[in-house]
Amino acid sequence: MTQVPRPNSAAARDVRSQLHPYTNPVLHEQSGPMVVTRGDGVWVEDERGDRYIEGLAGLWCTALGFSAEERLARVAYEQMRRLSFYHPFGHKAHVPGIDLAEALLAMAPVPMSKVFFCNSGSEANDTAIKFIRFYNNALGRPEKKKIISRLKAYHGVTVASASLTGLPNNHRDFDLPLAGILHTTCPHHYHGAAEGESPDAFASRCAEELEALIQAEGPDTIAAFFAEPVMGAGGVIVPPPTYFEKIQAVLKRHDILFVADEVICGFGRTGNPWGCQTFDLKPDMIACAKQLSSGYLPLAALMMTESVYEVIRDNAGRIGILGHGYTYGGHPVACAVALETLAIYRERDLFGHAAAVGPRLQARLRDLADHPLVGEVRGVGLIGGVELSRDKASRQPFDPAQGVGAAMTRHLHAHGVITRVIGDTVAFSPPLIITEEEIDTMVDRVARALDDTLAWCR
Ligand code: PLP
Repeated sequence: MTQVPRPNSAAARDVRSQLHPYTNPVLHEQSGPMVVTRGDGVWVEDERGDRYIEGLAGLWCTALGFSAEERLARVAYEQMRRLSFYHPFGHKAHVPGIDLAEALLAMAPVPMSKVFFCNSGSEANDTAIKFIRFYNNALGRPEKKKIISRLKAYHGVTVASASLTGLPNNHRDFDLPLAGILHTTCPHHYHGAAEGESPDAFASRCAEELEALIQAEGPDTIAAFFAEPVMGAGGVIVPPPTYFEKIQAVLKRHDILFVADEVICGFGRTGNPWGCQTFDLKPDMIACAKQLSSGYLPLAALMMTESVYEVIRDNAGRIGILGHGYTYGGHPVACAVALETLAIYRERDLFGHAAAVGPRLQARLRDLADHPLVGEVRGVGLIGGVELSRDKASRQPFDPAQGVGAAMTRHLHAHGVITRVIGDTVAFSPPLIITEEEIDTMVDRVARALDDTLAWCR
């Protein structure tokens, strides 16, 4: 990855032709990409034949690993041959879309009434924002439009969903966030709590700070609150146990809709089918994507309760149309693959498997807490984070200019592990099929990468 690419290599052609997301383009021109050529199970291989454990399931998505089972490929092939494209616009429908909508409603963590298909998590959250506007206009409360999400949240990168995202690099020089999208306290006890403040007291303070923001803006102006059950791309932040109970009480008091962003947590990641079940959330809308199709084809869904649906239905009925929809939303091939993916999850009890092996990942990661570089280890189910710290006692992060995160990434690669270092946190979200032995192999390698990074720092 760090060698200068040969002129006609895939790496050189890549540098000449692609602008990469979430990449420093100046460094990329110097180093070129890691060209990943194949995968099997939790492993991927680069063009040099080096093999890596994929500790993040790609981008938190390939629950079934990196080579689709024959039956998934066959379902995609057969759907393409039968009906390669259709759409749900203008009173049309296709059977894979109908079947998948039914399957999602049947497994939803709280009663949901309708599914609206999109292609990405960003689109699902964007759609939620638009529907919430539509809903409040229909209810004759045009001033109830502001939306609250949280600092360090990740909800996507479209103009509106990037505004929900609470990370500086998604706003800086993009002229975001949009007006009317506000951010409240991040529920990260390790950094946010005052000296001696218990997780419960900290959760109460988070709820009080939300209440204070709502009061400052005017409760009649706040339409919705968005939250991931576990914050993923913001650094794998697990809220204190009583956090959501207190937050939901505030939302209820002010008639504020709750959108649960299950894009990472949905489909077994936290040890239950949904993060909503792990944290007892009662949302009005749920956005999901990623593991919905094991990441094999782009697909996302937004579910809504009957009471939200009724208002949208009646307003669109008055206007004569619901003026929203994506050409590829609910693509029949993606829906067919997602349905088969859900069938595989069920038949192989993969959510049960994730719940069974999750404690091994948590225990093995927690063993790293004594390492001199590690400040905090956190996680639940098959999602975990290991935060590097300059100073354990003061919980001081490293100066980003030191490049410790990049050094850790290099050392992880050298030991055959791919994951993402987000700020100072090494994130883990392996495919749900991972075995306890593979968890051990991965964490052993991470421990060696930590040692190498410590030696590099000194
Ligand atoms: N919501 C959450 C919680 C996510 O983690 C992501 C992506 O990582 C998104 C939304 C955006 O999804 P996409 O990248 O498919 O637009």
